[in-house]
Amino acid sequence: MGCLTAYLLARQGLKVTLLEADAVGSHASGFAFGELGALEGAGIPDPLLDFTLWCFRRHPALAEELQEQCGVDYRFKYCDRLLLAFDDASARAFKEHLTWQRRVKDCTVQWLEPEAVLKVEPRANPRCVGASYLQHSAALEPYQYTLAAIQCAERAGVKTVLRRVTGLLRRGDRCLGVTYQGGQVEAETVVLTTGPWASEASGWCGFNIPVSPLKGQILRLKLEGPSLTHSLHYGGSYMALKPDGLLWAGTTEEQVGFNEEPTRAGRDKIMRDVLTMAPSLAEAQLVQHTACLRPLSADGLPIVGRVPGWRNLYLGTGAGRKGILWSTGMSQGLADLIVHGKSEVPGLAHLNPARFQRE
Ligand SMILES: Cc1cc2nc3c(=O)[nH]c(=O)nc-3n(C[C@H](O)[C@H](O)[C@H](O)COP(=O)(O)OP(=O)(O)OC[C@H]3O[C@@H](n4cnc5c(N)ncnc54)[C@H](O)[C@@H]3O)c2cc1C
Repeated sequence: MGCLTAYLLARQGLKVTLLEADAVGSHASGFAFGELGALEGAGIPDPLLDFTLWCFRRHPALAEELQEQCGVDYRFKYCDRLLLAFDDASARAFKEHLTWQRRVKDCTVQWLEPEAVLKVEPRANPRCVGASYLQHSAALEPYQYTLAAIQCAERAGVKTVLRRVTGLLRRGDRCLGVTYQGGQVEAETVVLTTGPWASEASGWCGFNIPVSPLKGQILRLKLEGPSLTHSLHYGGSYMALKPDGLLWAGTTEEQVGFNEEPTRAGRDKIMRDVLTMAPSLAEAQLVQHTACLRPLSADGLPIVGRVPGWRNLYLGTGAGRKGILWSTGMSQGLADLIVHGKSEVPGLAHLNPARFQRE
C-alpha cells in the first residue's frame, strides 16, 4: 500500500519520502498468495462490488506500466478458479451467488457437476458435490509486485528511509511530519500505511484505528508429475501452481497478535484442506512454510481516507484478505484525495475512516 501510493503521488509531481520499519515486502505484501478474486469475499458484492471490480480491472494496465518503467514482470495473468463444494448447503450458497456473479461484465461463471469438475481439473476430489467455476479471474506474484512498486516509486523520485516511525509532529489539526528514533521528516501531508500495525498510531493521532493482525500461513509444495491446472478453493483455503513451479497452498486465520512464526498446527490444518481438495497431493513434498499478518479492520472493509480531526493526515490499511487485489483502488483513492481532494474510484465513501467515528 505504501509503495504504490508513494509511486502514484510521485508520478503526480509530489516529493515523497517512504519510511519502512523493516524491509520493503518483508511482511504480508511479500508473502501473500497473490490471487485477485473479485467475485467473493468480505464486502462483496455489498457494498464493495463496484470498488472491487475497479481494482481488478486496473491491475493489467498497472502491471504493464510498472514493467515498462522498471523491468519487473510480476506475472499478472488471467486464470480460472474452482470453488469446490462438499455438502448441499455450500452448493446452495455458491449457486445463490451465481445469480449476481453472472451479471458481472467480462466474467464467466457457471456451476459444474462433479464429472465436469474432474474434466476441468483431474486432481480435484471426486467426492465433491460440484463447484463454482469462475473464469477470467487473475493472479500475480505479490513480492515482485511490491518490488516493482518500490522500484518505480524510487525512479519517480521517492526517497526510501529504513526507519520505524515513532510518532507525529503536530500543530493544531495539521500534521507537520513524522518522527523516528534519532530524527524526523517534515511533510505537508502524511499517509499511514502501516498494515496490521496501524493501530499503533491510534495514540499518535487521537483516533482509534480499529485494525488488528490476522495471521495466515502458506505452504509451498513440490509435486512430481502433472500438477494442478486450476486454482482450487474450499472453505477459505486454496492452492494453485505458481510460476516458481511449486504448488502454493493456504491458509489459516489466527488471532495471535503480532506473532509471524509458521506453526506445526498451521501446517497440519493446511495439509488437511489440501487433501480435501485434491487427495492425490498426499505425495507432495513440503519445500517452504511461511506466515504473515493481514491487516484486518473491525468491519472487514479497508480504511482509506483522511483521519477525522486532521486536515492532512491519511490512512490506507485494513484490506484483510484482499490487500493485493484492492491495492490499486486504495492507493489511487489516497493519491486522488491528497492531490485533488476527490476521487473517481467508485465506492470510496464506504472506506472512509470517519465511519468508525460515527459508531
Ligand atoms: C497468507 C496470506 C495470503 C494472502 N493472500 C492474498 C491474496 O491472494 N490476494 C489478496 O488480494 N490479498 C492477499 N492477502 C492479503 C494481503 O497480503 C494484505 O492485505 C496486504 O499485503 C496488506 O498490505 P499493507 O501494505 O497494508 O501491509 P503490509 O504488507 O504488512 O505492509 C505494512 C508495512 O508497514 C511497515 N511498518 C509497520 N509499522 C511501521 C512503522 N511504525 N514505521 C515504518 N514502517 C512500518 C511494515 O514493516 C510493513 O512493511 C494475503 C495475506 C496473507 C497473510
